[in-house]
Amino acid sequence: GLALILVDDRTQARRVEEVRRDFVVNVSHELKTPVGGLALLAEAIAGAADDPDAVSRFAGRMKVETERLTRLVAEIVDLSRLQAGDLLADMVVVDVGACAEEAVDQARVVAGARTVVAAPAGRPENLRIYGDHDLVTTAIRNLVTNAIAYSDDKTRVGVVTRRVDDLVEVSVSDQGRGISAQDQERIFERFYRVDPARSRRTGGTGLGLSIVKHIIAGHGGSVSVWSEEGQGSTFTLRFPAAVGETRAVGTP
Ligand code: ADP
Repeated sequence: GLALILVDDRTQARRVEEVRRDFVVNVSHELKTPVGGLALLAEAIAGAADDPDAVSRFAGRMKVETERLTRLVAEIVDLSRLQAGDLLADMVVVDVGACAEEAVDQARVVAGARTVVAAPAGRPENLRIYGDHDLVTTAIRNLVTNAIAYSDDKTRVGVVTRRVDDLVEVSVSDQGRGISAQDQERIFERFYRVDPARSRRTGGTGLGLSIVKHIIAGHGGSVSVWSEEGQGSTFTLRFPAAVGETRAVGTP
């Protein structure tokens, strides 16, 4: 009855408020580190005025830190908008194959010559879903940039798109360091990193997979991970295919 609904609403409201509060605490913590680092670098520059080499070294580090901070702020904004549910306003028919190609192109810029990022395989199939092109591309790109960041140089990252019954799947595989079973449970939490030092070095923000999770949830899909430590990882996104786009021939 009504009472139950009210209780549910209140519980729900409390949960939303808790998530918001936790997020603010997380964010302030995450911002303190790079901002503190920049302050120290500025001080170091001020104290090294008579050493041009040191000044340019510190300035270079400031540039890298500033770029990471900029990305962090952009991702925080994206994630809070995704959490609030206001990024998924207009769902249209989207071709996941095209999103995967775009994501790989964007990620190749990050990879340089270090890692081979194979072109997405499986394009001719019917890969249409209802969704947001840019957000689907962002989700795939986050997986591909992670696959690059957590692999050794010269290994291969593979992207496969395919249609499986009423689902459209995208798999991103690497032959990198892999993720332990325990960590697999936690990596989708915002700001969780297995190895914070490595994440920092590769310019990570700890938000990539959390953003993936929210984008996929907003599309009614799922994300799963298979991984073996030292062997590599495969992340798979699954979306419901657009209705009326089934492969079966002759269905009424
Ligand atoms: P980050 O910005 O640190 O990469 P993510 O949310 O994208 O943040 O990922 C969370 C953590 O999950 C990473 O710090 C890393 O430890 C782990 N991880 C993500 N993708 C991979 C992968 N392909 N191989 C190994 N570890 C991964």
